[in-house]
Amino acid sequence: MNFLEEKIVRDATIKEGNILKVDNFLNHQIDMNFLDEIGKEFKRRFANKPINKIVTIESSGIAIAVATAKYFSNVPVVFAKKQKSVNINGEVYKAEVESFTHKTINTVIVSKQFINEQDNVLIIDDFLANGYAMKGLIEIIQQANATISGIGIAIEKGFQPGGKLIRKYGYQVESLAILEEMDCENNQILFAKQS
Ligand code: 5GP
Repeated sequence: MNFLEEKIVRDATIKEGNILKVDNFLNHQIDMNFLDEIGKEFKRRFANKPINKIVTIESSGIAIAVATAKYFSNVPVVFAKKQKSVNINGEVYKAEVESFTHKTINTVIVSKQFINEQDNVLIIDDFLANGYAMKGLIEIIQQANATISGIGIAIEKGFQPGGKLIRKYGYQVESLAILEEMDCENNQILFAKQS
């Protein structure tokens, strides 16, 4: 097991509806040493890519994206916002994203100031489940005519369709832990083997 799989076994819990709760290290309380390991691992996996920007979606992606940016030199983090904020100046890129956890549809936006056609983007998120959030981020980066240099996911739920869907686009997708099965009754998780 890698460090993330070990952390999941030790600290995560399984909730009804195929939800993995990671509130005590990722989604509510944040374990910074652990996030630092995630950032380091993403840098290792995307070391040969000319990444100059990291893009994620609020809110849970932000901490991982920031921890990852620390390992790239001078790379800003841009996060898609879930509603139009009065603070956003000018034009925005937009995409519709269904929320896996809240079952609502959000319009997510990024100001046109912050992504452009010169950018080589690494997309980062905490979970990949059905792929709705990732599809929205890809759409936004395509609207900006920027290049997607890679996609980094902390936890992919391999039994949901997002991973297959996103890999079909041909991007380098790196998931640090891939859950193959979650057994809610016995609180047991099976991970997919990774090379
Ligand atoms: P997707 O859009 O791929 O269906 O879901 C991804 C988003 O839903 C992630 O950004 C994450 O916030 C949330 N999500 C999906 N599955 C889970 C889960 O099992 N546990 C938690 N905590 N969040 C999840």
